[in-house]
Amino acid sequence: MSMRIQYLGTGAAEGVPAIFCNCNVCKTARLRGGREIRTRSQVWIDGCISMDFPPDAYMHSVRFGLDFSAMKHLFVTHSHMDHFYAHDFILRGYKYAHGMTEPTLHIWCNAEVAKVFAECTAREMTPQVGKGIELHVLKAYEPVCMDGYFVTPLPARHDCKEDCFVYHIRKGNANILYLNDTGRLYPEVYEYLKRVGAKFDLVSFDCTLGKETRGENARHMGIGDNMAVKAALEQCGVVDSSTRYVITHFSHNSGLLQETLAEMEKEYGVTAAYDGLEIRLHSEYKEENNEILP
Ligand SMILES: [Zn+2]
Ligand SMILES: [Zn+2]
Ligand SMILES: [Zn+2]
Repeated sequence: MSMRIQYLGTGAAEGVPAIFCNCNVCKTARLRGGREIRTRSQVWIDGCISMDFPPDAYMHSVRFGLDFSAMKHLFVTHSHMDHFYAHDFILRGYKYAHGMTEPTLHIWCNAEVAKVFAECTAREMTPQVGKGIELHVLKAYEPVCMDGYFVTPLPARHDCKEDCFVYHIRKGNANILYLNDTGRLYPEVYEYLKRVGAKFDLVSFDCTLGKETRGENARHMGIGDNMAVKAALEQCGVVDSSTRYVITHFSHNSGLLQETLAEMEKEYGVTAAYDGLEIRLHSEYKEENNEILP
């Protein structure tokens, strides 16, 4: 079964260029534009599922011509502001949105995200809009089955103040392991993946720290950590030579301009995401131009 994955935003919390920053990476990104510009992380799957909803979601809908009223399911990884900007949800209906494709948006998340949603919408949510949004609090390892998709939240190593999740997303024989935001995975996550016999077509890595290797206990990863996770997944037999690896969520502090990323792609056999990268799994569609047309 085919799956279409669009990387709409590929930057860390402050974006690239960072909003208030004048470091060399940010200055160069401002000058060069194009692929050097990275908005906050969001991935759009099959035109109906969103992974996270950053402050730049509005801009993503405009830039890539997307119908976000067709978003039926939103999976939130954690409550950090670059992954969940809840204020915009007051605009989903009433006089703010007409002819919406999906009447109901399901937000799947942890308890902290549900709290942030309540706080951010408390002032301006109208009853007409509120009734079209349903929140569901997830538990790690308890999969959700809806509309042909099978999504399992797994514990991330990111912020101990909440249950941060990474996700296994499956549709038929297409499988994605979506690893944002997280450091290296916990040993029990590998055991779980091995036990359920997952086989991933795509692993999407948190590579906030670029060329660095931070080790076991960090809350983000660099390429060295990505490779350690890759090796552990190989040991579990849940990836093989056909698995594709994407790195994303880049920070301006990691010096990752296009030339450095091109080197990393070659050296490590990964694809460096950029805003607009599109990947199709199990599809007849030829990836001649894998960019989303604006
Ligand atoms: Zn983040
Ligand atoms: Zn900067
Ligand atoms: Zn975070």
